Amino acid sequence: MRPRTVPEAGLFPSLQPGLLALGCKWWFAEFMDSHNPSEPAEPTGVAGNRDLERHLESEPHDNDAAQRLNWLRAGVLGANDGIVSVAAIVVGVAGATSATGPILAAGAAGLVGGAVSMALGEYVSVSSQSDSQKALIEKERRELAEEPEEELAELTAIYREKGLSPETARAVAVELTNHDALAAHLSAELNIDESDIVSPWHAAVASAVAFTLGAALPMLAILLPPQGIRVPLTFGAVLVALALTGAVGAWIGGGSKSRAAVRVVVGGALALAATFSIGNLLGATGVV
Ligand SMILES: [Zn+2]
Repeated sequence: MRPRTVPEAGLFPSLQPGLLALGCKWWFAEFMDSHNPSEPAEPTGVAGNRDLERHLESEPHDNDAAQRLNWLRAGVLGANDGIVSVAAIVVGVAGATSATGPILAAGAAGLVGGAVSMALGEYVSVSSQSDSQKALIEKERRELAEEPEEELAELTAIYREKGLSPETARAVAVELTNHDALAAHLSAELNIDESDIVSPWHAAVASAVAFTLGAALPMLAILLPPQGIRVPLTFGAVLVALALTGAVGAWIGGGSKSRAAVRVVVGGALALAATFSIGNLLGATGVV
């Protein structure tokens, strides 16, 4: 669902560390996906009203809140991607050469390439999703116009399956049909809401912005300080930022913040160590 395509390092001597950074980025994304506890732990039993209230408060039951959380989650993931992949690229190049020019060029190429590929991937996936939702809505609208009796029977059957008696199910279906037939069918049959359809352009711009904001951190951390301390400083800044995004991601998903932070920090540290070593090796052997 998230774009996994990779930024091009360009026609640059730093191509090798760049490629490794991409490998690391992919591995990192897989690592995060398989370890991130996106499902909050459910309480084993809801006993009493106060427990129920707390349970309702702790979960985003209204659609707006859930959607805001989805956007926030996508933003955190995009920022994470930007931090890790661009940090791995610039640290890899810094391992090979002490010249600032190549670091800047490789980092800028990684930032632009990554932001564009994120936007593209997001645009493609959200458009196909919204196309299929729109098609389903159109089909439902047509069916409601052409065969309202069958549609009412269908809605009644859905509520009977949920456990209502035939009379109650029929009454619910009739009342919902009189109120807003299309919304009732979309919600009961397809679990979608017409206003929930996300614009592919919004999604594309949002993920490109999130990636760019994340990528700006390692760029600044490696370009601003003096040459002698820029690599350790970038390592430090990146790991602190990853701990934060990991904790925020866990907070959104309702999982353990400290465990999530440790996972992203360890993953990010491994990615940076790998590209820095490769860059160093290439620099030492005179390949670069
Ligand atoms: Zn229907």
